[in-house]
Amino acid sequence: MIAGIDLGTTNSLIGVYESGFPTLLADTDGRRLLPSVVHYGDSILVGHEARRMQAIHPNRTIASVKRLIGRRFGEEGTEGLTGIPGAPVTIPLGGQNLSPEEISSEILKKLKVIAEARHGTEITRAVITVPAYFNDAQRAATRKAGELAGFSVERIVSEPTAAALAYGLDRLQDRSKIAVYDLGGGTFDLSILQLDNGVFQVLSTHGDTRLGGDDLDQAIAALVASKASLPRLSLPDTIRLHEAARLAKETLSTEEQSTIRLPFLEGGMNIEVMLTRAEIEGACSPIIRRTRIHCLRALEDAGIKAADLDQVILVGGSTRMPLVQHLVVEIFGKEPNLSQHPDESVALGAILQGAILDGSLQNVALLDITPLSLGIETFGGLMNVIIPRNTTIPAKAGEMFTNAVAGQSGMRITVLQGERELAADNWKLGGFEIPFAPSPKGAARVGVQFSIDADGILQVLARDTGTGIEKIVEIKSAVEVSDEAVEAMLAGSLEHAFEDMDARIFTEARLKAEEMLPAVEAALAQLAGELPPDEIAGIRHQTAEVTAALQSKETVRLKQTLANLDNATQSLATRLIERAMKIS
Ligand code: AMP
Repeated sequence: MIAGIDLGTTNSLIGVYESGFPTLLADTDGRRLLPSVVHYGDSILVGHEARRMQAIHPNRTIASVKRLIGRRFGEEGTEGLTGIPGAPVTIPLGGQNLSPEEISSEILKKLKVIAEARHGTEITRAVITVPAYFNDAQRAATRKAGELAGFSVERIVSEPTAAALAYGLDRLQDRSKIAVYDLGGGTFDLSILQLDNGVFQVLSTHGDTRLGGDDLDQAIAALVASKASLPRLSLPDTIRLHEAARLAKETLSTEEQSTIRLPFLEGGMNIEVMLTRAEIEGACSPIIRRTRIHCLRALEDAGIKAADLDQVILVGGSTRMPLVQHLVVEIFGKEPNLSQHPDESVALGAILQGAILDGSLQNVALLDITPLSLGIETFGGLMNVIIPRNTTIPAKAGEMFTNAVAGQSGMRITVLQGERELAADNWKLGGFEIPFAPSPKGAARVGVQFSIDADGILQVLARDTGTGIEKIVEIKSAVEVSDEAVEAMLAGSLEHAFEDMDARIFTEARLKAEEMLPAVEAALAQLAGELPPDEIAGIRHQTAEVTAALQSKETVRLKQTLANLDNATQSLATRLIERAMKIS
């Protein structure tokens, strides 16, 4: 049996497929949502107990560790942590330095205990969900957390595809298009899926890793502080205020008003503040509106209009807010499907995926996409895409490369991720050297194959077809691919599209010129006696023009002079061929 796990930023859930139904498993108090909070005290506490300790021992308690999983110091999200830039993140907690995987594994261990107690058998296999934009490093770290918790992780699945499965959308008509609007505690994601022959494909995904219910709590806390004219609060009191703001926000999803009472704040203060739904909507609206641009971008990336969508589904606890539901209608011009609990659908989908894998449920498979293009650096510093952005995974693709220089005895394979034309503008994921016997230019044959498995982990294989020597490297990327980073990359590629294209055309023309100039010189030396002097002068003039154009770095000029040189050397080329034929 394979359990399904939603390892969330704010809350986590676990369940199994039982007697033909996906079932979420609750703790002994009947609670299915386990807060993703861990406290390191005399013993390790996880979940509700840890959340209670947060206000008392903030330095021994950690929430939202998912934001740090697979990250390195200096990357997005690691502000406030100290460590050597580029080294994997560790977090000081209760006198020890812990990795995000270790901390996440405590949450997973707790889920395992809950599930085993509830289900009455040992559960050792699991499917774990991650955001669609998680990069290799984040996926690999999530897998490691699962393993540390004692699970064999059978599959890492994207959250939107899991949610769509839970909503039963695999039964929609073929080619149906679905928007998954996921606003949780700490993150926002919008994914566009399409159903193709019973299989979900992610057409595009956009979002913000710093946008969610926590920001709403903060805005509401600020509103309360201003209404009650609160002075600056201590850290424990601030945490209490946020907790009260969160409860009021949740109540106001169904009630019109709610009162926040906080007795015995430090300094003996007691506060009581009445909040109305309209008031919190005023404070939350600017934050929620920030999701709109991501929805529009995802639609644009998928190449569709809102009217083309067959369904809009809501995922994440924050979508219970009426204000969020109104905004969704405004953005997509369509009522969202509210048939599932938004905070449980990802876990339900993970359970269904587990059931598909262990054979209890058949017929559906889940597919995912690459958030950015993957490729290698070619001679001249250009990006050569091997697997384009938004390719459905698992995917495999390859290309044959050769040596650009005679006598070269190896080739450096530099693996890149990104959308820019020049290698240097993309992210370097890794690299290695593949040796081959020194050979004339263009004689070596190195096949490079990229394969991304269903978990989004990339394997790069390079094989010298001459010797059969091959190297395989698994890329567990050190490069952040948060959705902000993906967005910045896309924005950069659009912004620089013109210069990038120009740079690529210039580089290609430069490589051609560098090849052609010595070849023309060699041909002239060989055939000098056979050519009329005015033709030689003409060719010399054109080679000088090409050399000048190369120095000027003007693309159009270089292309034009190369074309002229090509024309001027037509009869030279013919003579060369004729001579070669005579000799042979
Ligand atoms: P999730 O990450 O999906 O578990 O969502 C957690 C977020 O949903 C937290 O910010 C919760 O405060 C928020 N949330 C849960 N229930 C409600 C509700 N009824 N109304 C508004 N927000 C909610």
